[in-house]
Amino acid sequence: MPGTCAYFFISIEFFKLHKEFKNAQSKNSNMRPYILAESNWKTIKEQKFDLAVLPWAATEAHNYHLPYATDIIEADYIAAEAGRIAWEQGARVIVLPTIPFGVNTGQPDITLDINLNPSTQLSILQDITEVLNRQQIHKLLVLNSHGGNDFKPMLRELGLRYPQMLLATCNWFNSVDKKQFFEEQGDHADEMETSLLLYMRPDLVLPLEEAGDGKELKSKIKGIREGWAWSERKWSMVTEDTGIGNPKRATQEKGQKFFHAVTEKMAELFVEMSNVDISSRYGS
Ligand SMILES: [Zn+2]
Repeated sequence: MPGTCAYFFISIEFFKLHKEFKNAQSKNSNMRPYILAESNWKTIKEQKFDLAVLPWAATEAHNYHLPYATDIIEADYIAAEAGRIAWEQGARVIVLPTIPFGVNTGQPDITLDINLNPSTQLSILQDITEVLNRQQIHKLLVLNSHGGNDFKPMLRELGLRYPQMLLATCNWFNSVDKKQFFEEQGDHADEMETSLLLYMRPDLVLPLEEAGDGKELKSKIKGIREGWAWSERKWSMVTEDTGIGNPKRATQEKGQKFFHAVTEKMAELFVEMSNVDISSRYGS
């Protein structure tokens, strides 16, 4: 019967493809199938992905004791671990390589803080969205790792151009309540970031005696101090050591706990975005 024949043919083809996929994976035992930079065409051409995650960082000074790549390292580790958790729960997610440069318009006089203007970021995002849209990967999450980046206005604009896409962004550093993990609050090279780097790359962290205290001078304008008015901080007028927040109480253990809390939360977002039906994504 023609029906049976077709079924048989499909089954054999499926079996062959499945076997090829397994082989390609096993020969590369260290390859993580949810990390694009580690994947090869042999596996990618057989795999369907629902969600692309684009980590976006910055290259900038982080007090005296943390590396310029701090935001990049955080983005890489958090995206990879959340990707692993989500993948193991069946989410077909692919983590794209981290974009290493971000908006540093407030630090023009800090040596080698590399600035990408927001308009440049929009161009990059537009090109990446175009590729995903063309290839039927209709969900994109921009995983932001740097306070100066603001993708919301860009995603509004791209959403009009690509109505089939589900475009989202998140700041990993706002995903859990930092007060439950750290004694001193801050927002740049602070106790939180120093603890994370002590956990992820202790080999790149100078002894904490060499760190500045991350003291921040506040605005003389009340509305800005209260947070409901905004003006970009001129970094070198606000902090001497480039840090904001005292890093001295940072520990590896605090970093580890925080990392696990953040990546669990992030993985949940990956899974939910992967599973949601774009055409009916609202409900009670
Ligand atoms: Zn940072």
